[in-house]
Amino acid sequence: MNKEKNEVTKSVTVNDLPKITVTKSVTDSNLSSENTVTKSVTIDLIPQTTISPSSINTYCKCPREYFYNYILKLPVRPNIHLIKGIMVHTTLENFFRGYKPNFDKTLATYFVKAWLSNKKQLAKLELSTEILKKERQDCINILKSYLYKFKHTINDLVEGGKAENESHAYYLLKPKFKELKVENEDLHCKGFIDRIHKDFDGNITLGDYKTSKKYGIGLTKDYRRQISIYALLYKLQEHITPDFTSVIYLRYGEEYFLEVTPSLLKYAREIIIDTYNKTRSINIEDYPKKENKLCSWCNFQNVCSGEKDWKSVIRVEKLKKLFSTPTPSISTTPQKRITSIQQGGIYPPCVGGSTEAKK
Ligand code: SF4
Repeated sequence: MNKEKNEVTKSVTVNDLPKITVTKSVTDSNLSSENTVTKSVTIDLIPQTTISPSSINTYCKCPREYFYNYILKLPVRPNIHLIKGIMVHTTLENFFRGYKPNFDKTLATYFVKAWLSNKKQLAKLELSTEILKKERQDCINILKSYLYKFKHTINDLVEGGKAENESHAYYLLKPKFKELKVENEDLHCKGFIDRIHKDFDGNITLGDYKTSKKYGIGLTKDYRRQISIYALLYKLQEHITPDFTSVIYLRYGEEYFLEVTPSLLKYAREIIIDTYNKTRSINIEDYPKKENKLCSWCNFQNVCSGEKDWKSVIRVEKLKKLFSTPTPSISTTPQKRITSIQQGGIYPPCVGGSTEAKK
């Protein structure tokens, strides 16, 4: 089996633009070390010309991770969550291409297609058959849950007389665009909106599909930031202010809305400008590490000491806590402990006790 290893070996400056040499070593574990093939490529380090909600979120999470991903462009290993998200998105995109009776069968067919077209990527993950089966079932559950809610709404429309039949209801609910690219040159920012929906009262909602698990209620800061940026980019491009922006949790069939207000748009504008300004540098020192508990999930653990640093911070904090906790005073003899209980040391005295006790 071939193993690839990327190493940043040296840094030189040419025409004021630092370049780095990346050495790519391909080692076949069945061969001796002399058979290692090494290839060096020199690449320019340039700041991102156009930022996106994802890159902004990465920067907010950890500037150093942003540097590795968007400036150094170190390869990111595909992971099952990413591939699952792509497969579910593709299945829904195809499902909304046009009405076909028997929704369950149609969705299942599109999912099988999406699964097969990602087979190579999945194989690269080298997951066991058991895990792969579990992940496949998880995708099916997400889609089933989405379809359950969709069919329910279809029935409501037909029974409520708002749609003539299933096909009519499908077209009423079908997203206007399956994906819209929104971009603003002045802000140097672009993104893709998953779903744009106009309701019967003309309210426009921009939706973003999520396949992730959600813990607790409400929206995470990341999602709030992302959908606020979509709202601003949509307004600037289409010259229409959307009414709502939302996150659609496919797994739970739930949708969380944010009303688009002037302050939300102001917040989005400020975060875009701030991130763009802070990411013009190509020096690693300008991208500090933000060690946190998510370091263990970071794609760049192999090149960054963040996880180790975070663990040592936690260790130090635990030790500090341990030494700052006052040691509880314990009576030395059983007799003393009994006295302390009788005096209300542990249990407060019973107010208004028996006559016997008062005596
Ligand atoms: S390991 Fe932690 S500190 Fe390092 S880049 Fe990743 S998130 Fe940032």
